[in-house]
Amino acid sequence: MIRDLHIELLHSCPLACLACDHRTLGAARLKPAAVSALYALPELKGLELVSFSGGEPLLYPGLGAVIAGAAAAFPRAALVLLSSLYDTKKALRLLRRLPPPVLRRLHLGSSLDGPAGLHDEMRGRPGAFAALKASLAALRAEFPGLSAGLTFTATRRNAASFYEAWTGGRLLGVPLAPQFLVANAGTAGLELDAAAGRALAAGLRRAAGECAPASREAANLRQALDFLAGGPAGACGAGASFLMLSPEGEFYLCPFHKDIKAPLSAPGALRPPAAGHRSRHCADCFLRCAKRQMI
Ligand code: SF4
Ligand code: SF4
Repeated sequence: MIRDLHIELLHSCPLACLACDHRTLGAARLKPAAVSALYALPELKGLELVSFSGGEPLLYPGLGAVIAGAAAAFPRAALVLLSSLYDTKKALRLLRRLPPPVLRRLHLGSSLDGPAGLHDEMRGRPGAFAALKASLAALRAEFPGLSAGLTFTATRRNAASFYEAWTGGRLLGVPLAPQFLVANAGTAGLELDAAAGRALAAGLRRAAGECAPASREAANLRQALDFLAGGPAGACGAGASFLMLSPEGEFYLCPFHKDIKAPLSAPGALRPPAAGHRSRHCADCFLRCAKRQMI
């Protein structure tokens, strides 16, 4: 049964993150007719989570209506918006437009990849950290109950700065969870090597030591430590418990297998890689260890 749906609305983004390939994928944008068809699919009626990302979803025309439409179509689903928060005014305008019942179901996710200078370098845009900080402050001042979280994508470049980023998240009043790189044509040299893995593990352990042991935050940190240590791996939910939709309006299997696709009308046609879950990507797949770490 499909529980999670991850919708990429468009490829465009004003940032140029080192680990991201959206800017190489063209100018496609999910068509309104595709959104309507998606929301009507019987396979999705039991959704528990719908996420909206891109590219940068704040650039998608009619984003508020798209989120409100998902709230109506999937009444049991949590709603997740993943944005770099590069533009405080746009983010505020969006949230002001959402009806309060929809806003109460919304979780806002963004990324923090290091302290200010390193974050800007990782995100490919000077001022990215300042914009994130300003947006979080403004959003939380106007919407104090808003659920928000940050993710840190660990690479060779920033692994040693995890703890600093984690404390930075605390200063911003938003929890930060680690996640791992999805390799693409532009990420050579960013993969964790042994030294970076050790540095990351040290930061994760230090942060975990400062969390309440039973907290979700501590569980995320322990999951990342388990993954670095080689397991345990859970079952793969690609095409079975979660679906991903591209701006072109096609389902694809998972962030590692964007080439395995199914048409919008037939999400059940997605199949795991021919080699089963033994491909290089599947062997290294953090999604099997970290359910919902994508958000
Ligand atoms: S903010 Fe997101 S979509 Fe934009 S470049 Fe970075 S990772 Fe890619
Ligand atoms: S890489 Fe393999 S194990 Fe991971 S989500 Fe994709 S298909 Fe599943």
